[in-house]
Amino acid sequence: MKIFAKGFNFGQDGPGNRLVYHLAGCNMHCPWCSNPEGMAVTGGENCTVEQIVAECKSCLPMLFGGGGITFTGGEATLQVEELLQVLEELQEAGIHTAIETNGTARRLPEVAAHVDYLIMDFKHFDSERLRQVTGVGNEQLRQNYEYFCRSGRQLHIRIPLINGFNADDPVGFASYFAGQDTANVCFEFLPYHEYGKDKWQAPYTVTDGFVSAAQVEAFQNTFADYKLKTINT
Ligand code: SF4
Repeated sequence: MKIFAKGFNFGQDGPGNRLVYHLAGCNMHCPWCSNPEGMAVTGGENCTVEQIVAECKSCLPMLFGGGGITFTGGEATLQVEELLQVLEELQEAGIHTAIETNGTARRLPEVAAHVDYLIMDFKHFDSERLRQVTGVGNEQLRQNYEYFCRSGRQLHIRIPLINGFNADDPVGFASYFAGQDTANVCFEFLPYHEYGKDKWQAPYTVTDGFVSAAQVEAFQNTFADYKLKTINT
């Protein structure tokens, strides 16, 4: 597996203290991406499935507070075969697993079957707008969202709020989400930041991405109106 970064964090990418692997490569090209160095599939360290599983097992004492292992990216599902192998072996070893994904992979349901905690980004309800800005539409993302809602599994949806892109239409998001059974779904808003800006080698094209407190509040209120559960991590 190609890994471009790894490290521990607490409660940010799943419950408890977690070892988080950033897998190289992404099928989207979000202009605000905070890990642009992970967009290319070519970079990073090459590790075998066995090496990763052994490393995870050696870190067991660090996975406290109900913690475990999280795979993110880039987009972790681009390396789907290896990812499936690692997840299966970690589950067999009784280690808690999570992934954070942009949700556009056709085989995501297969991967999610081996994941205890699923975090899926949902950047826009309008497919053409999403395609225009990130290069990928939301047809598969919607299919995956609807599949997970039907299956009743736990699902944590993250919505990056970007001024000028998606931050002015909370009703568009909420009305779509509420069309499914969201009993086991929670939603989180991630206001735009520029932590990754200095890492961009290509020109950084977002000029006015910061959202106001009123824009965030409008999302919170609208989601509450639609009876959608929101969280902050
Ligand atoms: S989907 Fe995530 S990792 Fe991929 S380009 Fe967008 S923000 Fe970056």
